[in-house]
Amino acid sequence: MRCLQENFGSRPPDLLVGISPSLGPCCAQFINYRQELPPEFWPYQIRPDYFDLWRLSQDQLQAQGVRPEQIQLAGLCSRCQAADFFSYRRDRHTGRNATVIALRSADE
Ligand SMILES: [Zn+2]
Repeated sequence: MRCLQENFGSRPPDLLVGISPSLGPCCAQFINYRQELPPEFWPYQIRPDYFDLWRLSQDQLQAQGVRPEQIQLAGLCSRCQAADFFSYRRDRHTGRNATVIALRSADE
């Protein structure tokens, strides 16, 4: 967020944000979460050892000033619902997903 603000003059209330397919609360199991996740993530535990990282991302964006109605959540778990996306947890090898961001001037 700070990078967008400093380099492009972006204002959080003006941003449209998409949360792509990613590890969903159905599969975000962290058995050793106290060693693997920072304490600020712990309140997002939805049942023993499972975390809602989507909610965490939404809350982090809102804390920076992004409007909740301007956050779009794909709601697709890359491990169990979106086989076209890489998932280390599913496949045990890494890959990369790409994001495209476009800036339009206010004159357009
Ligand atoms: Zn899942």
